[in-house]
Amino acid sequence: MTASPAPTKSPTLESPAPSKAGAPRISFVSLGCPKALVDSERILTHLRAEGYELARKHDGADVVIVNTCGFLDSAKAESLQAIGDAMAENGRVIVTGCMGAQPEEIREKYPNLLAVTGPQAYESVVAAVHEAVPPAHDPFLDLIPPQGVKLTPRHYAYLKISEGCNNRCTFCIIPSLRGDLVSRPAGDVLREAEKLVKAGVKELLVVSQDTSAYGIDTRYAASPWRDREVRARFYDLAAALGELGAWVRLHYVYPYPHVDEVIPLMAEGKVLPYLDMPLQHASPSVLKRMRRPGNQERQLERIRRWRETCPDLAIRSTFIVGFPGETEAEFEELLAWIREAKLERVGCFTYEPVKGAPANDLAAAVPPEVQQERKRRFMEAQQGVALRLQKQKVGRRLPVIIDSVGGNVAVGRTKYDAPEIDGSVHASFRRPVRPGDIVTVKIEDADAYDLRGSVV
Ligand code: SF4
Repeated sequence: MTASPAPTKSPTLESPAPSKAGAPRISFVSLGCPKALVDSERILTHLRAEGYELARKHDGADVVIVNTCGFLDSAKAESLQAIGDAMAENGRVIVTGCMGAQPEEIREKYPNLLAVTGPQAYESVVAAVHEAVPPAHDPFLDLIPPQGVKLTPRHYAYLKISEGCNNRCTFCIIPSLRGDLVSRPAGDVLREAEKLVKAGVKELLVVSQDTSAYGIDTRYAASPWRDREVRARFYDLAAALGELGAWVRLHYVYPYPHVDEVIPLMAEGKVLPYLDMPLQHASPSVLKRMRRPGNQERQLERIRRWRETCPDLAIRSTFIVGFPGETEAEFEELLAWIREAKLERVGCFTYEPVKGAPANDLAAAVPPEVQQERKRRFMEAQQGVALRLQKQKVGRRLPVIIDSVGGNVAVGRTKYDAPEIDGSVHASFRRPVRPGDIVTVKIEDADAYDLRGSVV
């Protein structure tokens, strides 16, 4: 899979360029998962290249673009709210992103929008902007940095390797919104990664709907990069990214058998020892109803082997409780599995009946109070596991990438923690440190999520 069911929200742009007289100004809201964030960056890169400027507020902008998320009903509500705010504060609004694939729902509420375009429809968004406010004559091509406009801090960046998904998990409507898998050529991905690293990015976060399916649609076609050909294959791409000298973190890895191949790259330090693999459940019967791979006994065995190869490996996963028809016995199977698997990082979501998802009609819904009670029991079980694993880090010296510095405390992350979703390290320091520095921190204390220590 992909998408963690919980969407994240990126703020409106924090660092708009200083205004240039006469240049049209765009206000932008980016909602949703990291894949949507990459779409936002592409749209903004294109518009900045044409001379558009970025406004800090909706009020006073020539047009507002809202990149929506439609993965869950709660995300849709948040998207509609953002559109409503933009309409109230500005009135000239273009909507794009996942929710744009269902324009009727948006138009019904906001009939006066300038345009509604679907996900990956960069050209349509740009065309709608041109129509609303034409670009200035001078294209100001030199205004954009070579790596494009980034919404993430300078030291890490999401790298999108494909669009769409060939799986048909019954709780998910992403394939109907974004279509089947379309992989980017490996050479293109690697050139983008190189540019990012040259521009100061220290950590590349590889994202897609299904990262381990990379290249299936192109039959793993090779494309030129540097002085050789690189195949569009999960292993080949990970190995080549590992040559760039940045941290490489793999997200949204579906548990296909060939994932085993990248674990030695992690053991060798070429790719971070971190695997974000949303498993969703552990009961074979629930997994069957979800239409996900179902042998979690074998999955436990694989995890054991991975840890033999790479003892440092941190696995992050997400699970859904209260899936339609989930019985107490099936839930207990999940609890037993999670205690046995001892995953480092785990998110838990109660099932939400996204409109159009086949799972809604598979079996009776689990009452909300039972869903909440199962979520609580799940998180309690996982917290015990996480705390024990975190305490094992006390006394160790770990490399930490610094995300922010305030007063005399720097906040950063270990190799085992991704931005936004995992824990942090809070470290005191004597010599100056800056965001993006990779420093060594002696870990002195731990709770189930975060670590504390000092820079050595
Ligand atoms: S169908 Fe499954 S694998 Fe594909 S995006 Fe949805 S949850 Fe992820």
